[in-house]
Formats: sequence, C-alpha cells, structure tokens
Amino acid sequence: MMNHKAIALLSGGLDSTLAVKMMIDQGIDMTAVHFTSVFCNCTPKTAGCKMQARKVADEFNVPIRVIHKGMDYIKIVERPPHGHGSGINPCIDCRIYMLRKVKEMMPELGASFVITGEVLGQRPMSQQRHTINLIERESGLAGLILRPLSALHFEPTRPEREGIVDREKLLDMSGRTRKPQFALAAELGVKDYPCPAGGCLLTDKVIAARLQDLFAHQPDYMQTDLVLTTMGRHFRLRPGVKAILGRTQEENERITNLAGPEQFLFSPQNFRGPTTLAIGMLNNDDRRTISEIIAAFSQDQEQVYTVRQHSMKEEFPLLAVAEKKPRETYDLLRL
Ligand code: SF4
Repeated sequence: MMNHKAIALLSGGLDSTLAVKMMIDQGIDMTAVHFTSVFCNCTPKTAGCKMQARKVADEFNVPIRVIHKGMDYIKIVERPPHGHGSGINPCIDCRIYMLRKVKEMMPELGASFVITGEVLGQRPMSQQRHTINLIERESGLAGLILRPLSALHFEPTRPEREGIVDREKLLDMSGRTRKPQFALAAELGVKDYPCPAGGCLLTDKVIAARLQDLFAHQPDYMQTDLVLTTMGRHFRLRPGVKAILGRTQEENERITNLAGPEQFLFSPQNFRGPTTLAIGMLNNDDRRTISEIIAAFSQDQEQVYTVRQHSMKEEFPLLAVAEKKPRETYDLLRL
C-alpha cells in the first residue's frame, strides 16, 4: 500500500539535499538513510564534527539513520558482479547494495517508496539510463525509486501514479552540469555542504592499487587492514611482507595504535622519521630493508640511523643503517 512515508538516501551532497527538500515541500514524511564506510571521505574522523548528512537532516528536522557498509560490502568491492569504475569503485553494485539495505528497512519504518538525489547522466557508471534501470531491478525496488530532480526523464513511479507525489512539481535535470542544482538551491534556500575531502576513496587510483594488492596477498584481511590502506606510504617488499610508513606525526600515532599484538613496529631512535608497521613474517633481509627505507624517508642527516624494532610481545636488537639511499631506490616496491 502506498502512503506518504518514504526513505531518502541522503549523502549530504547538494543533489540528495535538494531531493529531500522538494519532498518535504510535497508533504512527504521521510526517514533519511546515510551510508558510510572506511572509504567515505565525507565523514570527518575527528570527534565532535558532525557529518554533512546529519547537518542536513537536523536542519530539515528529518530523522536519520547511519549505516556502516561492513565486510559484506568489502567483498563486493573485491569482486563486484558489475565491475569496477575508474578506480576500484563498484558503483553499480554499491548502489544495489545500499538500495537492498533500504528495502529491508521499509517495513519497519512503514515506508512505501524511496527517494534519491540521482540525476540522469550525471555520473558515468551508475547514473546512465540502462544502469539506473538495472540497479532498480536488482534492488527489488522497480517503480518505487523516485528521483525528484530528474523524474521527468523516467516513467512515472508508483507514488506519482497513485497521487502521493505531484509529478508536475518534479524536475527534468540531466547531464553533468551542476548549474540547475545551484539555481534550485538558491530558489529553495538550501545550503550546499560541499564534501571537503572529495567523497569516495574507492575512485582514487592509489587506494585502488593498495586494495588490489591487499586482496591478492592477504585474503584473510581485516577491518584494520582496510583502514591502513587509507594512510601512509606503502611498500610491498615481497609477496608475504608489506611495510607502511607514517607521513606525519598523526599518522605515526595512528599506525602505532593500529598495530596488532604480534606485528612489528619500526621506529627511529636517534633521528626524526616515519614510524613503520610491518605486515607479514619478517626475515632479516626484510628488517634491514625496512630500516633503510625509514632512513631514506627521514629529513635528518646522520652518520648512522638507528632503528628500534618491537612488537607488544617482543623486542629485537636495534638496527643501524650507515648509508642513506635516495628515496627513488624503493620506487619499484611502492604501492
Ligand atoms: S562513488 Fe563510491 S560510494 Fe558512490 S556509488 Fe561509487 S562506490 Fe559507492
């Protein structure tokens, strides 16, 4: 049964914000759902910062649920049935995943349809007509996904056909230009909260390479391994061994905190340089190479670079590096 209740997919970007505002203006009673993951750059890491979607929901007085895309999602990133985009972003399967989760929530929330901020043709992978249709079918929500910004490019949805939503007040935006959205934002008095850090890290080539490497070499990866792909400098020494160097003091501390009880940390003793987490079973050559890389990435000039190697359970003898090699020496190992 159709009713005035809907679930709105709210990323916190301008398009979904406008879609929610348009539906509020049509008297639709919404719950917003915001998806986040390790690879979502829109969610500030610092405590106390509100995520963009929450700001929008608060401003419109719309209840919001935040869903973390967990390991079931990462398995999709690893092997998406509909393929990857320009990075390791599985946009089609990601949309299907999110919409299926939303569909599961509909009975509990009493919602009879779904609202998204999609605009036909705006994104190369997931917002083309044939992919939009495919996503709709595979999510089990055919006819129930209303896209207020772009609705006139599609057949009327059930809520339109049944008079819950007035189609005449819906729009016909399409393509990559954002001008109509900015004009509408001004007209509706909607604030834009641009994502400060660029959205989804899965589209980033470096993150894509690190994840491909992780999936290939560490099939039993855990959440911590995923978090580590988003920080530091990564070096694959050999198939079973990887080293992650902090680039800043903050990353050094985060890497230290993320180390497992048996994993070895390498830290500079008599010089300033990157704290390094080693992943895998290390031999003596690995330990020496890691120490040499740390020396190469230090700004300091020393006669000898002394590196400490320790886990929570063990301490190995200090390592001394006499020669600082150029950083490029390690380019081939870099991820
Ligand atoms: S850009 Fe990222 S979050 Fe957005 S649909 Fe693609 S994979 Fe999902």
